[in-house]
Amino acid sequence: MEKTVYDNRRWRELPRDGECVVSFLFGEAAGPCRGHMSRHHVNPDDPRSRSFQVCVRHHNRVQAIVRRLLDPPGWKRCPHKWGTHRYRSGLEACERELNRELLEELGVAA
Ligand SMILES: [Zn+2]
Ligand SMILES: [Zn+2]
Repeated sequence: MEKTVYDNRRWRELPRDGECVVSFLFGEAAGPCRGHMSRHHVNPDDPRSRSFQVCVRHHNRVQAIVRRLLDPPGWKRCPHKWGTHRYRSGLEACERELNRELLEELGVAA
């Protein structure tokens, strides 16, 4: 199985000169774009999955929105300050702990 590596040639050659998706969808309501254009992976575990262009400023918001869309209703968010969990796995563990009861209800091993 291939490792999740974004620093490969195919990834680097994907275009980054288009329009930020957030700006395209929401226009001025989302505020101005800032930073270079990056790419958001629809499925971060699969580097070959679809991705779209988003500026650095809007990328964090996209990640927050996506998580909110995909998480089950009633899911509690990590209450800690941004950056408390250095790694995604730490954040996930924190939220699993917070949502232990919900996970048990859903029949997902916590
Ligand atoms: Zn933007
Ligand atoms: Zn936390």
